[in-house]
Amino acid sequence: MRKWKLRGASILLAALLLILTACGNSNGDTGSAGNGNGKGNVNSSSGSAADEGVLADIKKRGKLVAGVKFDTKLFGLKDPGTGDVEGFDIDIAKALAKKLFGDESKLELKEVTSQTRIPMLNNGEIDLIIATMTISEKRKKEVDFSDVYFKAGQSLLVKKGSPIKGLEDVTKDTKVLGVKGATSIKNIEDKVPGLRVQQYQNYQEAFTALKAGQGEVLTTDNAILFGMTKQDPNYVLAGDIFTDEPYGIAMKKGEQALVEYVNGFLKELKSSGEYDTIYEKWIGEKPAAE
Ligand code: GLU
Repeated sequence: MRKWKLRGASILLAALLLILTACGNSNGDTGSAGNGNGKGNVNSSSGSAADEGVLADIKKRGKLVAGVKFDTKLFGLKDPGTGDVEGFDIDIAKALAKKLFGDESKLELKEVTSQTRIPMLNNGEIDLIIATMTISEKRKKEVDFSDVYFKAGQSLLVKKGSPIKGLEDVTKDTKVLGVKGATSIKNIEDKVPGLRVQQYQNYQEAFTALKAGQGEVLTTDNAILFGMTKQDPNYVLAGDIFTDEPYGIAMKKGEQALVEYVNGFLKELKSSGEYDTIYEKWIGEKPAAE
């Protein structure tokens, strides 16, 4: 009797294991939502062995799929006329594709916004995020980051002649605009008690709203605001930066091989001088010494 029970239990266990193996979603990302059917998934496996995981998938596929901004001048902006996407982050993505395949065109750029980038990464639509993304403790719970590849800080954009000259002039009644999913929202709401930021889907929408007089201030990283002053010189930055926003390339959690590869790539980019060339091309000056 006891023997049969044991045998029954082991058959059950074997069947359970079989079902589990068959159901295991294709990229091993059993913990995250929205990946049930594996559709649109660029990552086909995950694991610690050298031939598994996102890095191995990228190599097998022969193309890097990077999540980048399409709305952010200087970092990732799509030209509606030509369809080209250009900016600092785009050049970083191209250089990474070049290191991977010896060909910078082996790259697919997929649009992310501040709000969609983490879900798109974690459901396997993109291999990594190169999109003005601040490394933060909160985000580290959801994704892994590379080393810092750009240093920004939060600031304010106002119309020339505005009485708002810096954060000290912002009150809870100031109409402040920002973008959903950006660190900038909580940062400024924490600094100005009672303030509620009006939030938009992306930076071009927020800037259009500012220009239409729907707000007095647009807040995000100084480098992004600097790009907007290039689009319309009637707008200027007000005051100093009031946060540190170090940008990192984000990857799915647990993809150690990919993180190491990307960090090695960033080191090479800096030591070869190519990083400085890309920086000067977009920011107009040399990066500050480390
Ligand atoms: N760096 C900030 C962030 O990661 C603001 C820029 C953005 O929205 O991407 O949230």
